[in-house]
Amino acid sequence: SLSIGIVGLPNVGKSTLFNALTKNDALAANYPFATIEPNVGVVGVPDPRLDKLAEIFGSAKVLPATVDFVDIAGIVRGASVGEGLGNQFLANIRESDAICQVIRAFNDPDVTHVDGDIEPSRDIETINTELILADLQTLEKALPRLEKDAKRNAKDKAAQETLEAARAAQQVLDSGKGLYAGAAEGGVDTERIRELNLLTVKPFIYVFNLDSDELADEALRAKLSELVAPAEAIFLDAKIEAELAELEDDEAAELLESMGQSESGLAQLARVGFATLGLQTYLTAGPKEARAWTIRKGATAPEAAGVIHTDFQRGFIKAEIVSYDDLVEAGSMQAARAAGKVRMEGKDYVMADGDVVEFRFNV
Ligand code: GDP
Repeated sequence: SLSIGIVGLPNVGKSTLFNALTKNDALAANYPFATIEPNVGVVGVPDPRLDKLAEIFGSAKVLPATVDFVDIAGIVRGASVGEGLGNQFLANIRESDAICQVIRAFNDPDVTHVDGDIEPSRDIETINTELILADLQTLEKALPRLEKDAKRNAKDKAAQETLEAARAAQQVLDSGKGLYAGAAEGGVDTERIRELNLLTVKPFIYVFNLDSDELADEALRAKLSELVAPAEAIFLDAKIEAELAELEDDEAAELLESMGQSESGLAQLARVGFATLGLQTYLTAGPKEARAWTIRKGATAPEAAGVIHTDFQRGFIKAEIVSYDDLVEAGSMQAARAAGKVRMEGKDYVMADGDVVEFRFNV
């Protein structure tokens, strides 16, 4: 499954946040088949639609979609030249599908900052620079080969385009920009150089670790958002998240409400992370469970069926589908059928977010 790597300088609150992420006992119990490794946190993507479906179908439990977060320890200035845990660090990032940087904005004289003082923009710059340097190294190594390929096959359009994309990428990186932020503007066709597995191509999410009294400071949040736009910014207090993870659901809701928030920072992170990975869900419901299944945007009905079981995809006949909104409006599957809201879709159907589905298949 797709994963998001958590990175950040030392002492910014990564471990605190990650511990909160892995405290998800309820989820772990519901996904016994998921291999949960010590550096992986599985987080449920909050989806109120599932509770409503559980109500309609009398489902015994609710299973949300999940996102995997991977704790990637050890970035320091100089990581790209192999200092400290540099190489291992870069290899771990290469395996992630998106990158989440935790940035310290909280003030605590008892917790030292590696660079002396609290300066979010500098911390963002530090990590950005390491990733850009690593990508430039990758390109420098690859370019002679790409040039040779392009020269040898003057008529091979793909080889020419790959070389062109690599050169354009080098220019963007030389200007100090990562490719996630700068590819479009720099005219870089990143699909062409996908084989290079460049780090800065990966989608970025920024988590600002704030003091809880700073969380309500709209001006501060706007300023920090601007630092990272167009990437998404999430604001949380890692210490509070760790506390929330220890509480029962109703107690956690109470604590959040007392702080004027409707959702924990981790829940927001899961939601934004899920969308950033280009994923969406479809829903199934019955007496056993109401469940969200993860698919890529643009997945067809047989591909969606394959997420439940490969046999479902192989033996796919059709999908009986009602949109969530139509189902809720009708109040039951029966009423939705009577109202003509339930459709039969074939193998070319492209799934829409919120489709409630039952697959028909041969075994
Ligand atoms: P890491 O090195 O990035 O993994 O950072 P840690 O999670 O180990 O946190 C470093 C120190 O900062 C620990 O003493 C934490 O208790 C403290 N810390 C983490 N998050 C917060 C926060 O939101 N507010 C305050 N005041 N301290 C925090």
